[in-house]
Amino acid sequence: MPSTIMAVAAHPGDALFTMGAAVAQHIHDGGRGVFVSLSLGERGHPTMPPKEYGALQRVATERAAKKLGGEAVFLSYPDAEVPLSDEAALAVCDLIRKSKPAIVVTHWSGSWHKDHQNCYAVVRDAVFFAGLASLAREQPSHAVGKLFFAENWEDMTNFQADTYLDISPVFDRWVEACSEFPMWRGETGFRYNDYYRSLAVMRGCLGGFQYAAALMSSSEQRERRVRSL
Ligand SMILES: [Zn+2]
Repeated sequence: MPSTIMAVAAHPGDALFTMGAAVAQHIHDGGRGVFVSLSLGERGHPTMPPKEYGALQRVATERAAKKLGGEAVFLSYPDAEVPLSDEAALAVCDLIRKSKPAIVVTHWSGSWHKDHQNCYAVVRDAVFFAGLASLAREQPSHAVGKLFFAENWEDMTNFQADTYLDISPVFDRWVEACSEFPMWRGETGFRYNDYYRSLAVMRGCLGGFQYAAALMSSSEQRERRVRSL
């Protein structure tokens, strides 16, 4: 059975722009990919009403995920009000148990954005709940193999990249998928397109690839248990 990677983000743009290339690469290599957005990011447009913008964000996410060969899943928390609660962690736990990802990618905790901070903590707890066999849910327990944090311009406090993933084979397709979003084109203020394409070039230089995504491993993953060095 092909292995699954799951990206869990506070907002759809985070899922596609910061985690999308890693998901696309995993799919390219024969795996499956799931994009989970905890909210629609519907309050992120300076002029468009949230209801209208949320609908647009949902369509853009579905289209982008499809272009990359992945699946888009939404939880319905209001943008700017993503809660840090057991209820949210259990909702993500259920998605993990259902899709059985070997790898989960999410936000790093060092963010100025409260939704991003809460997403980090919700996923941390969801991974714990998902693997807890004595916690009865509809689906049986599932242990996530690897947990990574994505590089995001809003989550850079103490972010330390330790893994460089070659995304050269999927770079063009990933950019095309991101172009589904008005915010990628700079309509909400920040130049996402310029930033994330340049970041892939910069990380490629450091990683020894044409284009790379830099990820940070969870601290438990960085520990090695060896009998000799
Ligand atoms: Zn965000």
